[in-house]
Amino acid sequence: GDWPSSGRVTFQNVYASYVAGAIDVLEDISFTVEAGQKVGICGRTGSGKSSLLSALSRVLQVSRGSITIDGLDINCIPPDVLREKFLALPQDAILVPGNVRENLDPGATLSESECIIYLQKVGLWEFLKARGGLDATVNEKLLSAGQGQLLVLGRALAHPKQVILMDEITSSLDSKTDYFIRNLIQDNFKKNTIVKVEHKLENLLECDKVVVVSNGRLQEYDNPRVL
Ligand code: ATP
Ligand code: MG
Repeated sequence: GDWPSSGRVTFQNVYASYVAGAIDVLEDISFTVEAGQKVGICGRTGSGKSSLLSALSRVLQVSRGSITIDGLDINCIPPDVLREKFLALPQDAILVPGNVRENLDPGATLSESECIIYLQKVGLWEFLKARGGLDATVNEKLLSAGQGQLLVLGRALAHPKQVILMDEITSSLDSKTDYFIRNLIQDNFKKNTIVKVEHKLENLLECDKVVVVSNGRLQEYDNPRVL
């Protein structure tokens, strides 16, 4: 169906572990992301940022508390169904064997000119045009790590979903490109709920709210300019 329609995400006293019965890597996490809000997750290396994001896709098991999206407990939804509902952008760009077009538009629903527009939006077209364009084979010889992330972002712009999860997707980008991409995300996903992980609070200033995690626990949840 249309779930999730608005994309309101609620963690309520969530304890979660990677393996049932094992030690909880998340403890007593509570916060709500209102529909369409942009929420950042920050904290030190190993603090539980990726785990918090993965809990939404049921990679972790909730041992106490609940995670709901538009009022529905995600434990009621099979993980494979659930993962289809989000757009999840992991830290390492996931590119598929094939050419640029197949990576940008896996369902082959866009025209050639639409493909080019999305590649222009993420700043890749000038580079790709000289290297085979939409037909260029995607591999590590064609694209750097950062360029791979730009291509994945182009795919996200072309095929958005209501809830978008991003795990440090700009970590391989220089500061100027990083700034450009963060603005692109702000401008193009106005109605979408976004939960994004970043190491640094200064990369989350455009967010409505930021969750600070430390040792698997929520330290603070507030506007980034207050933190
Ligand atoms: P980084 O900044 O390095 O990306 P992070 O804040 O994203 O760190 P997590 O990846 O959430 O941290 O890891 C938090 C803790 O969860 C780790 O210290 C580890 O003990 C545990 N953990 C992470 N991934 C797994 C896994 N796949 N299986 C079991 N435990 C895990
Ligand atoms: Mg991480």
